[in-house]
Amino acid sequence: MAARIGEALPDARIMIAGRDVAEVAFESDARLALDVAIAALETAFEKPFDIDGESHVIHVQLGAAAADSHRDEVHLIEEAEHALLESRTERVAIARDVTGNTAAIDRAELARDLTGAIVNEELFLQYQPKVHLRRQQITSVEALVRWNHPTRGLVLPGDFIPLAEESRDIIALTLWTIRRSIRDQKTLAEHGHHLRIFINIAGVLLADKRFVRQACALVEASGAELGFEITETSVIRDPESAIANLKVFAEIGITIAIDDYGAGLSSLAYLKQLPARELKIDKLFVTQLTSSNRDPLIVRSTIDLAHALEMEVVAEGVETQAAMALLSVMGCDMIQGFLISRPINLDALIHFLEDGKSLAIAADLRAPFNRLAAVWKRG
Ligand code: C2E
Ligand code: MG
Ligand code: MG
Repeated sequence: MAARIGEALPDARIMIAGRDVAEVAFESDARLALDVAIAALETAFEKPFDIDGESHVIHVQLGAAAADSHRDEVHLIEEAEHALLESRTERVAIARDVTGNTAAIDRAELARDLTGAIVNEELFLQYQPKVHLRRQQITSVEALVRWNHPTRGLVLPGDFIPLAEESRDIIALTLWTIRRSIRDQKTLAEHGHHLRIFINIAGVLLADKRFVRQACALVEASGAELGFEITETSVIRDPESAIANLKVFAEIGITIAIDDYGAGLSSLAYLKQLPARELKIDKLFVTQLTSSNRDPLIVRSTIDLAHALEMEVVAEGVETQAAMALLSVMGCDMIQGFLISRPINLDALIHFLEDGKSLAIAADLRAPFNRLAAVWKRG
């Protein structure tokens, strides 16, 4: 299939993005280039494939997004994924041109819209699995909020969580996230999947008595198994109440994870006092792991530190097999990242969990693992 794509689009980069998803990326100055490319791909797959003498027609579904060069790639991929979802129901290729519609995000307007978005059900959750390396098991997922804005399209949390924190909408947003996660956890359980769901909790909420009370009430009433991801920076702001409230959460069975470790302010004094069971190493250190000299040392000593404090370590932003192998050698407990899966909708998560192949990536650790282990030990 890669060969056919390559013939149709000689300048494109082709990547495997999932068990049945490939990403094709290219640049062009022409406005119509995307439509031309879609037509070329559709033609390329009309002819059957010859597999062991048998003729097979491979049906492809195309979702595409184009933007000017200012747009970041992750956002563009998310737009393309949305287009792909739509194309699955519409049964035709969907292309979106998102040029210019975020270049000047009007913060004030967006902040105004956000209040309504929560009641209008414009927010939705995607889930990203964490894989336990030794157990070869998906033990939990992280809930990540997205906003399907009626005119702007998909808005990612980096663009509206800071606004929500400023306007205090963060309280309603987070309570909504908790409620939705509880509901989705029930759906997962009905399909036989028992997974803890981790929710990101903004720093400002850790000192908010009303939020703490309401969050605890929701969790206790439902018996849900949740986790809260918090950053150390948010604890440093008001350590006394933050630590007290985290203890309240931990007592009712919520697992506390320290998110983005290493990216913000860190204090060993507080780290020791937090009732945290997981430490997530920031993707900043993980994405460069196999190309930098310093990052592997930082990551390894962080893993040792966390283990000394009896925490399990999650590496976020694992994008390559090589990074996974190295992390495994270093004793990292869990990994999360595009290599395993991007954040996906609930129904896609259920499919993902039911397809044994999802873990094949993590199980396929041995080959690069041995090679890298040798390099690492020598170095
Ligand atoms: P985070 O909690 O550190 O979430 C991880 C972010 O890294 C997610 O971005 C995820 O899509 C991205 N990511 C996952 N794997 C990879 C990878 O392999 N490579 C790279 N380059 N990136 C990866 P997203 O969804 O845009 O979320 C950004 C941040 O927004 C989150 O960072 C979190 O701090 C915040 N956030 C998301 N949902 C919520 C929420 O419900 N409440 C609050 N308060 N904050 C949220
Ligand atoms: Mg997080
Ligand atoms: Mg993080």
